[in-house]
Amino acid sequence: MILDPSFYECPEHHTDLTGLVQEVLEDDGPPVAYLRLRKAAAARPFQVIITCPGVDGTGAHQLTCSGIRTK
Ligand SMILES: [Zn+2]
Repeated sequence: MILDPSFYECPEHHTDLTGLVQEVLEDDGPPVAYLRLRKAAAARPFQVIITCPGVDGTGAHQLTCSGIRTK
């Protein structure tokens, strides 16, 4: 799986969320929202809602990550 951007981070906690984003995408369930650019199957824009675990077990919250999946 190749993502653009290749790195996702919580702007609040600076937690690496890349693995969570990939997990959601690998599930291959219906994404929250595909943007309109669906014509090229090779590059699919995506938008997923990720739960940031927060810090030390507190402050978990959801945030939206979006990017382009090229493979
Ligand atoms: Zn966070």
